[in-house]
Amino acid sequence: MSGVLSTLLDPFAELPSNFPREIGVFVYNADFDYLEKYSLSTEDIRHFQEELSKTHEGKTWYSVFTRMTDRAIEGKKSTQGDKKVLRVAFLRYEDYMVSDNQENNRWFPVVSTKAARGISGSIRLVFQWVYYVWRGTIKIRRCKAKDCDRIFNPVRSDQEYCSKRCAKRVWAQTYLER
Ligand SMILES: [Zn+2]
Repeated sequence: MSGVLSTLLDPFAELPSNFPREIGVFVYNADFDYLEKYSLSTEDIRHFQEELSKTHEGKTWYSVFTRMTDRAIEGKKSTQGDKKVLRVAFLRYEDYMVSDNQENNRWFPVVSTKAARGISGSIRLVFQWVYYVWRGTIKIRRCKAKDCDRIFNPVRSDQEYCSKRCAKRVWAQTYLER
């Protein structure tokens, strides 16, 4: 996987300027083709989609992600499940494990890192993105058009629609149909 998808952040540090601020928007809106922007190959993108369709506690990572993003955008309180996911998303190394070992009749503790938990770098990245959306560091809005449920990174502070298409459509519905 190329660089950007393995971004592992320190939640206390400021968001780096090269953090892919739109990545969660593309994932949420299922616009996977746009991930090419982060120099991902078609294979990388397919792999990312595969990862998102794997299940976590009975739900796909994709649905865990979209529900969590919904709560983040609305500023709702995080659930126990959200907390668990965020904790893993920010674990730089897996949990440290301390075990005991014995040699020549002497015991000594051994610190090692636990095996991977089946959460890939790309999955971690999108949940890190959710965290920064929740904190308000990355600004996200939901399109105001009635029949559109897409989210977007606003370019202007007064931007209400995800695209020119939605803005034009709403304008047409409002002014031409009466
Ligand atoms: Zn829209």
